[in-house]
Amino acid sequence: MGGAADAGVSSSAGASGALLVAVLLVVLGVDPSILGTGGAYDPGQVEAAGGTDEDAFERCRTGADADADVECRVIGTVNSVQAFWEDELPRALDREWQPTQTVLYAGSTPSACGTASNSVGPFYCPSDRLVYVDADFFAVLTDRFGADDGALAQEYVVAHEYGHALQDQLGLLGRAQEDRQGADSGAVRVELMADCLAGVWAHHASEVTDEDTGVAFLEPLTREDVDSALSAAAAVGDDRIQEAATGRVDPESWTHGSAASRQRWFLDGYETGDLGRCDTFAVDSVSG
Ligand SMILES: [Zn+2]
Repeated sequence: MGGAADAGVSSSAGASGALLVAVLLVVLGVDPSILGTGGAYDPGQVEAAGGTDEDAFERCRTGADADADVECRVIGTVNSVQAFWEDELPRALDREWQPTQTVLYAGSTPSACGTASNSVGPFYCPSDRLVYVDADFFAVLTDRFGADDGALAQEYVVAHEYGHALQDQLGLLGRAQEDRQGADSGAVRVELMADCLAGVWAHHASEVTDEDTGVAFLEPLTREDVDSALSAAAAVGDDRIQEAATGRVDPESWTHGSAASRQRWFLDGYETGDLGRCDTFAVDSVSG
């Protein structure tokens, strides 16, 4: 989640209620048999590059696929997050979500923001308006950064990048470039906002109900699910990364925020489900 342009969200073409439901079930690892299976996922929101095979993404159709296969989990999350913002943005901000593709690559691939690889991690590139993810990053997140390997840890990463796409659509991404380092810098505020936006998605992902019956499609996330997301948020905190790399912590050079701040802003979004709580520029200090 480093890199020049770790930000961004956009919308997807109109998902039907049934599609949305199935997608959400799948993504969050609920047994899709409750809903029945079928062509739930839309692999068309994801492009292949650098060693992945777009035709192979067609195998990703159900929640069971997402449980079994990390690439399918990325696709399901992309579908879910975009379906959420497509619905939420007109309601909350009177804005239309702009559909945003993810490039699901393996190894490395060029982007308009430089070479994408797991040495920079997943990012959103505002120059080509694409999210770049190598599904192998989740093993890096666990093995090198110490996050747990729960599904919501991985989904948080994807939802965070779509948070940056949303910021791009709202004209907020430039604030990271104007003030690039420090514990309360524009860059850190942009990153923590993306964490909060990921939390808002996570909150609502468990709330979507069947239009006809009013029955919720998903069990609420468990504490264990949320802990997984929090472990990922903490693992990519600047202080954790600096300490592991150099044994020192230097807030003056932070670009993404501390482990505690990243957890706090994700939780703010998750607990309230309120986009309005994600205005990290409205507070004196984002780490307080
Ligand atoms: Zn980011």
